[in-house]
Amino acid sequence: MSNTRKIAVIGAGLAGISAASALVEAGVDVTLFERDSAVGGRLGDVGKPDLGAQYFTVRHPAFRQATREWQQRGWIAEWSPRLYHYDHAHGLRASADDIQRLVGIPDMATLAEHLLGSDPVCDSEIQQIQRTADEHWLLQTADGTQLGPFTGLVLATAPATAALLLEAAPQVQQDVARVRMRPCWSLALRFANPLGTVLDACFVRDGPLDWLARNNSKPQRPADELWVAQSTASWAEEHQHASPELVASALQQAMAEVLGVPLPEADQVQIRYWPQARPAEELKWGALAAPKLGLYVCGDWCLGGRIENAWLSGRQAAKAVLDK
Ligand SMILES: Cc1cc2nc3c(=O)[nH]c(=O)nc-3n(C[C@H](O)[C@H](O)[C@H](O)COP(=O)(O)OP(=O)(O)OC[C@H]3O[C@@H](n4cnc5c(N)ncnc54)[C@H](O)[C@@H]3O)c2cc1C
Repeated sequence: MSNTRKIAVIGAGLAGISAASALVEAGVDVTLFERDSAVGGRLGDVGKPDLGAQYFTVRHPAFRQATREWQQRGWIAEWSPRLYHYDHAHGLRASADDIQRLVGIPDMATLAEHLLGSDPVCDSEIQQIQRTADEHWLLQTADGTQLGPFTGLVLATAPATAALLLEAAPQVQQDVARVRMRPCWSLALRFANPLGTVLDACFVRDGPLDWLARNNSKPQRPADELWVAQSTASWAEEHQHASPELVASALQQAMAEVLGVPLPEADQVQIRYWPQARPAEELKWGALAAPKLGLYVCGDWCLGGRIENAWLSGRQAAKAVLDK
């Protein structure tokens, strides 16, 4: 197999990083492009409370093997919260689930940096891709710069962006354009003193909240009492244009109801709206490909909205590139 291939991976979330690292391991010349100033996408922000992904679980043997290695390297650790469920009818109930939950340390986002190691990332937003007469690809950035040529492209962005870039592959473009992502409001509250509750995390069934977690119950977080509250997708859809103040107030009220304690005033509030937090449907595509064009598409939304699926989808895209 010739390794004269030059592949561009667009998007340095977990799927793009997974695809890029598998290709680099196979000796392929890879350039990874990221629009944001930091890598990791929906894993969240390095050095900040976990406002994006909260933890991850492991089902697939390949991901199990990878996570064992990450754990040995000290990049992730097990998190065993005192976990509860809440609904109006029953109130708080301790959860009987014994699923293993893993988190990045010292925060979720740093995992992306560990996985990349010293591999460089080009800080560019790709706005257009163009096929050349000799069947290569050129990329165009937001400021009009042309990059390339590349023999193949892996698109590891959100589906709406991938659909815009996929004009040259109408069949794949049609599938991608149908994927719907749903939003989430995520709130972090830091308190001067621990809240008087036994729980560390809670799945919430009723009201605006979907999830609550005491972030400092995760391993190797700062000791400050810091809670993360995340909304349901439908509440976020209904409140997508609401002011952050209104959202913070509504989520705090819901949190006080779930915990059954009055909330003191938080001494720090951070809030983030994720317009495309999770896919509406669990698709089982793995990764998409137009191999004749050297075009591949991956992302959690190709497999079902979780960290594990983002990583697996990236690996599947890399395999498709290598199998060509
Ligand atoms: C609030 C929230 C809570 C979550 N909770 C959990 C959880 O507890 N457990 C779990 O398993 N999963 C959770 N998830 C889902 C998890 O975060 C995702 O499954 C995973 O991070 C997706 O990775 P990805 O690489 O597919 O996409 P992304 O992380 O979205 O990466 C896409 C990347 O592409 C970049 N990009 C986009 N357009 C361009 C462009 N034109 N040019 C260059 N770069 C571009 C973006 O900036 C981004 O970095 C949660 C997500 C959110 C938002």
